[in-house]
Amino acid sequence: MEKKEEGKTAHAQILVVDDEKPICDIIQEAMKHFGYTCLSAMSGEDALKILEKNKVDIVITDIKMPGMSGIDLTTLVKSNYDSDVIVMTGFAEDFTYEQIIEKGASDFMLKPIGIKELLIRLKRVQRERAMLSERNQAEALLRESEKRYQELSITDNLTQLFNSRQFYNQITAEIERTNRYNHNLTLLMMDIDNFKQYNDTFGHLEGDNVLVRFADVVRSCLRRTDLAYRYGGEEFVIVLPDTEGEQGVVTAERIRQELKKEVFAPKPGKTIRVTVSTGIAQYSSGEELSSFIRRADLNMYRAKEKGKDQVFYS
Ligand code: GH3
Ligand code: MG
Ligand code: MG
Repeated sequence: MEKKEEGKTAHAQILVVDDEKPICDIIQEAMKHFGYTCLSAMSGEDALKILEKNKVDIVITDIKMPGMSGIDLTTLVKSNYDSDVIVMTGFAEDFTYEQIIEKGASDFMLKPIGIKELLIRLKRVQRERAMLSERNQAEALLRESEKRYQELSITDNLTQLFNSRQFYNQITAEIERTNRYNHNLTLLMMDIDNFKQYNDTFGHLEGDNVLVRFADVVRSCLRRTDLAYRYGGEEFVIVLPDTEGEQGVVTAERIRQELKKEVFAPKPGKTIRVTVSTGIAQYSSGEELSSFIRRADLNMYRAKEKGKDQVFYS
């Protein structure tokens, strides 16, 4: 579906980096056609020279080039400039998506590059940039006031995730933005299974350890625009901006699977796995916050009723 865009997003400056001139030319041509400013470089070294002198929003780079590789270029760009990187390659087997994202790239495309596909991904990266800068400003303001009002903390001490107060601070703004730009918004409500029994059997400290490691799993599975909160004792809520419910299912499943890989050893000689149940709701335009949360919550209870260790979305 075509989304209403923030007007400013079309004016981004792009830098395309590829040792094959025809690829540079085609992408540059297309970018200009669609209203972007686009520079080009035929090596990582040249790209860095251009970045020294120009404000570039998004770098699109090949991986395999003589001299500096696109991966090394990505690392340098991410540590020195406020630019996003989209990596493209014809050698899929050399790097996995995760490895490339770990270097700080925002996205990864296989050659041959389809222009339509590239545009969709560019728009997504631009939306993320706008979202992050808006949020950073809001967080800076909040941090300032936090200094003055220590008691208004926004993070949970145990897991270092945001707390439920911050959830209520942020969700209203996310809903507002969702309504304003006609984006999607998805909420995941997660609750650890049989946690009372775990606590009763192994003690509260071991229970705390599960919560800490669950939070680590959650962090490792989220995009940078996603927001995770410890909502209550062993309940967590995740906000996925600009995301459809179906895509939320994919994220929730990833968290469920990753948690199952974690081995807990609450006492010598005893290993145990922990599972989580998740309810998902996609925001429906104009909906009240309370109804949005209730739908995610109800779906979480459905997941419990159906036998736990699963994701329920309706
Ligand atoms: P279900 O699978 O239906 O979710 O069952 P459950 O046992 O996980 O859920 P229940 O709500 O019955 O119990 C939640 C338990 O979580 C109760 C409490 O002992 C524990 N708990 C809540 N907060 C904390 C915490 O901060 N640390 C620890 N260790 N345990 C906590
Ligand atoms: Mg619970
Ligand atoms: Mg529980």
